[in-house]
Amino acid sequence: MPIALPPKNECADRSERAKGAYLGLAVGDALGATVEFLTPGEIRHKFANRFANHDGKHKDIIGGGWLNLKAGQITDDTAMSLALGEAILMNGGKVDALASAHAFDNWMRSKPIDIGNTVRRNLIHFRQTGIPAAPASEHDAGNGAVMRLLPVALATLDYDAIDIAAAFKAQAHVTHNNPLSDAGGICLINMLHIALQSGTWIALKAAAKALESQNPEYAWSKTKKQENPSGYVAHTLQAVFQAFFATDSFESCLINVVNRGGDADTTGAIAGMLAGAWYGEHQIPPRWKIALDKTIARRCEEQADALLACSTSAARNPQDEPRCIAPPVKASVQAGSQSRFSPDPYGQSAP
Ligand code: MN
Ligand code: MN
Repeated sequence: MPIALPPKNECADRSERAKGAYLGLAVGDALGATVEFLTPGEIRHKFANRFANHDGKHKDIIGGGWLNLKAGQITDDTAMSLALGEAILMNGGKVDALASAHAFDNWMRSKPIDIGNTVRRNLIHFRQTGIPAAPASEHDAGNGAVMRLLPVALATLDYDAIDIAAAFKAQAHVTHNNPLSDAGGICLINMLHIALQSGTWIALKAAAKALESQNPEYAWSKTKKQENPSGYVAHTLQAVFQAFFATDSFESCLINVVNRGGDADTTGAIAGMLAGAWYGEHQIPPRWKIALDKTIARRCEEQADALLACSTSAARNPQDEPRCIAPPVKASVQAGSQSRFSPDPYGQSAP
């Protein structure tokens, strides 16, 4: 849908935007999961005759999908974000690589319903070495570190650019030590900050265009519609940016992106956090908010405010402690710690 004028960003309250972003992430995850791994044609076919006067689009939180979810249930995108957010809050607002790694590892031990291959492999690496940073790999350009970055964006709202990048990488490199993932993640945090600080549509677009011009893999503005986006971070963000900039409401953005199918829970989650930060919580359709798992919704709202509070301290001065803690240079595996690790139970189950 082409739009004549850029959509206005009318809510002025940071807290309302932060809650919009966090609930938007969860809503997008729960909505998209129903059609994850389907093609746009399969989605049209499946939803064409579902309800009278239905237009063949998936637009309600009904659960199901390949994970056979309950309506309102979320997946790894939201679960890893909440785990990371808790770790940041436990560290007084700092993004700590080791604390992030432990949080993700504890989440993996809870036998989550889904987990990305790269996440699983590199958390096993962490269990075996104690090093909370995966080996750098050009192959680890999946969207797994970007889908969970919202707590970092909320906790770093008043940071300078160097600290923002360091904070993103501290959590991201636990599982995805890859320059394309870094570029996409740092760009998305910048866009979330523009939205949370009541910036302009033009500034948002400039940030997304800058990513495209610096990393041609991300080309989104003049390339054809990204349908069936894969878990490759460039495909994921292409779909998200195309949907976000082509629509003028939270609801139309999310419906646009999840009906592209592919990694739809993750495009839904990322589009949900961006659109939620821009349009604010009040623009999330009530039917979606009501459908969302109540405990998850409450945790999202609580973390949104708590993380925002962490970021509002005065501008950093040189005497301050560092605001994020990079992984130690040397491994510090405790004696005998390897024997505590159970074998990976997800080896065959994840796609
Ligand atoms: Mn997921
Ligand atoms: Mn996914």
